[in-house]
Amino acid sequence: MSLTIPQIRANTMRARHLYQRTRNQHFAVGAFNIDNQETLIAVARAAQKLRAPVLVEVSHGEVKALGLENIRDMVDNYKDEFGIEMYINLDHSPTVDDCKRAIDAGFEFIHIDISQENHDASLQEIIDKTKEVVNYAKFTGALVESEPHYFGGSSNLHTEKIDYEAIKHTFSTPDGAKFFVESTGIDTFAAAVGNLHGKYPVPKKIDLELLQVIRDAIDCQISLHGGSGTPLHYFEDAAKIGVSKININSDMRVVFRKTLEEVLRENPDEYAIVKLMPEVYQAVQAVVESKIEAFGSKGKAVI
Ligand SMILES: [Zn+2]
Repeated sequence: MSLTIPQIRANTMRARHLYQRTRNQHFAVGAFNIDNQETLIAVARAAQKLRAPVLVEVSHGEVKALGLENIRDMVDNYKDEFGIEMYINLDHSPTVDDCKRAIDAGFEFIHIDISQENHDASLQEIIDKTKEVVNYAKFTGALVESEPHYFGGSSNLHTEKIDYEAIKHTFSTPDGAKFFVESTGIDTFAAAVGNLHGKYPVPKKIDLELLQVIRDAIDCQISLHGGSGTPLHYFEDAAKIGVSKININSDMRVVFRKTLEEVLRENPDEYAIVKLMPEVYQAVQAVVESKIEAFGSKGKAVI
């Protein structure tokens, strides 16, 4: 069932109110990637238990796996069933057209990431295409997120160490952030301050000083990608500094797979896999809950 335009606008209005609250009350909302129904259940259960607002997010591949309209419907069904504050974010969309389709489907949050598909895209191209999405989103009120650079890493388990000296060259700068935000009119700036996609053998380090300088340089919201494998105390500080949204993917995927392997090993004669899934989503739910606690979003839902 498609949402009507007034319903979509009411949702995006609530989403904007949520972002306002993150700034006023100094907490960050978790954006949790889903690529199956069990992971969505895990996020919904955690949101209900902790009365926390949550975003579920889907990247290009996850949209392909689940279907744009299906995602909207599933989220709406669980939102009603659990009585929770939950939104959808289109994560790392490589094209303007995909963003427009998600805006039409009523996604409240849109992340346009032109450099995802073409790492060599010029700043001007990134600005122009981001602006196109910002203008299109005005009709429903969807919030647009972007950044002028390519993010390192990938949402997977990495075995290599992190070369911080090399990564520092890709960090956001206050002037670069200010120019990009003013040139595009985005709602959310995805900052690169030591956050990397994926999980690594050593914990990640967030440059909180740089984050503070960027916070002071721009008015719009700030998001942090690549939250997995980051010591939780960084999130508490990031939320205090004024980060509104933190993306989590790999930490959930790792637990999902490991728990699934375990329960399959322990139940070699069970072919109704659905019966084994509660253990899997409960394990993922525990990950989501630990992030919610660290982000300070527990008890912050407005339902
Ligand atoms: Zn990301």
